[in-house]
Amino acid sequence: MKSYTSITVGSLNLFNENKKVMPFGVSSNYRYFEPYPLYIRKGKGSHVWDIDGNEYVDYNLGFGVMEVGYGNQKIVREVEKAIQEGSILGFEYYKTGELAREISRRYKMDMVRFSSTGTEATMHSIRIARAFTGRKKIIKFEGHYHGSHDQLLVNVNPPVPKGKTMSSLGIPEEVVTNTLVLDWNDLEQLEKSVDEDVAAIIMEPVAMNMGLVPTDEEFLRETMRIAREKGALVIFDETKTGGKAYSGAKGEFSLEPDLMILGKAITGGFPLSVIAGKREVMETIGPGKTAHGGTYNANPVSVSSSLVTLKEILTEDAFYHMRRLNRMLTKGYEEIGEDLGVDVSVASWGTSGTVFFSKEVPENYKEFISSDISRWFTYFFACLSGGVIPMGGFNEEWTLSISHSEEDVRKHLEVAEFALRKAKE
Ligand code: PLP
Repeated sequence: MKSYTSITVGSLNLFNENKKVMPFGVSSNYRYFEPYPLYIRKGKGSHVWDIDGNEYVDYNLGFGVMEVGYGNQKIVREVEKAIQEGSILGFEYYKTGELAREISRRYKMDMVRFSSTGTEATMHSIRIARAFTGRKKIIKFEGHYHGSHDQLLVNVNPPVPKGKTMSSLGIPEEVVTNTLVLDWNDLEQLEKSVDEDVAAIIMEPVAMNMGLVPTDEEFLRETMRIAREKGALVIFDETKTGGKAYSGAKGEFSLEPDLMILGKAITGGFPLSVIAGKREVMETIGPGKTAHGGTYNANPVSVSSSLVTLKEILTEDAFYHMRRLNRMLTKGYEEIGEDLGVDVSVASWGTSGTVFFSKEVPENYKEFISSDISRWFTYFFACLSGGVIPMGGFNEEWTLSISHSEEDVRKHLEVAEFALRKAKE
C-alpha cells in the first residue's frame, strides 16, 4: 500500500500555498495534523474525495455533523428553496417555531433558543446559568470540550495535565478564575467541590473529545443529585451526543438536565446550535435581562435543513440502521485487536466509537493521554492510505451515517486490520 505522502501530493502543494495566507493552512486548528493536512474536494453518501482524487470511506463526517450523508437530496431541496426565497430575512423566520417545537418534543425540553455554533451555545448557557442562580462558579471536567470561547477552554487537551491549564495562548488567568476543573468519573472530588457559589456543572454526558470515554451512569446520576442539593444547574453539552442517539444522552439515560446544548448532526450540515432548557431557566433570557443574540441565529437555510433532518431523515429507523452498523464495527475492532494481540481497546455508544491504543478503555483524561498516541498516528495514516478516514483525530470518535452500508464497514475493518498490524510493528 502506498504511503500517505506519496498519494497526497496535491494536498501538500495546497498546504504550502495556503499556509502563506492562513496560519497552518487551515481554518480550524483541529483540521491540522503533521506533516500536512488533507484537502477535500467533495463528498457523496458516506464517501469523500481529496484533491488528488483519492476516495475515502469517511467516518469523521465533518466531525460528526454529516449523519444525513453527503449530498442528501432532501436537504438539497429544502436548502435550495430557502436560498431562492432569501437566505437571511431579518426579524424571525416563520418556520423557526416549528423547529423549536420539534426539538422540545423530541428532547423533552420546555423552551429553545438558537445560535449558530456549539461554542456560542455553551458560552450563552453559562451566562444563563449565572443569571438564573446569581452565582459565579462553573465546574467543568478535564478533557471535555465545550467550544473555543475563553471561559471553558481550560484543561481541554493538556499534553501533561497538571492543575488548571489554559488550552490556548491569550486567555488571561482572571477570565478562568471562576472555572473549576475536575476529573471525569471522580465522585469524591465532585462532592467536595460543589459549594453554594457554583452556578452550573457543564459536561459532555458521554465524553467524545478525549476519544469516546463511556459514562458511568451512577456518576452521572450522583452528579445530578449533588447539583440539586446545592442549587447548581446541570448543563448537558450534547453538541455531539444529541445527534448520536434519537433523543441524545438525555433520552438514553432518562435524565433531566436544566439546560441542554445541541448542534452538529441535528443540523443536517448548516450552522445551527440549540440552547434548550427548563422554562424557569430559559425565561431569564430576554431584552433587559440575559443577553442572547446573533445575526445568523436560526437563519432560514439552517432552520430548513435542521427541520427536514429531524422530521424526515434522522428518524428512529435511521438510528436503528446506524447503531446496528456501529455494533458491527465495534465488534470487528475487538476481534481484530484480540487476533493480532495488540494492546487496543474499543469503546462505543450510539452511532460512534473510538479505538484507543491502551489495554483498557480510559475512564478519564489522564488515562486517555497516557495511551500510545504515536501508534494511533501510524494506524491513522495506514487507514488513509487504504481509503478509510477512521475518525477525525486521536481524541475524536468515528460516526456512522444513514449512507454507510455493511460493505463500508467491512472495508473499514479490512483496512483497520492492516493498519493495526502496522501500528504493532
Ligand atoms: N461542545 C462539544 C461537546 C463539541 O464537541 C464541540 C465541537 O466539537 C463544541 C461544543 C463546539 O462546537 P462548534 O465547533 O460548533 O463551535
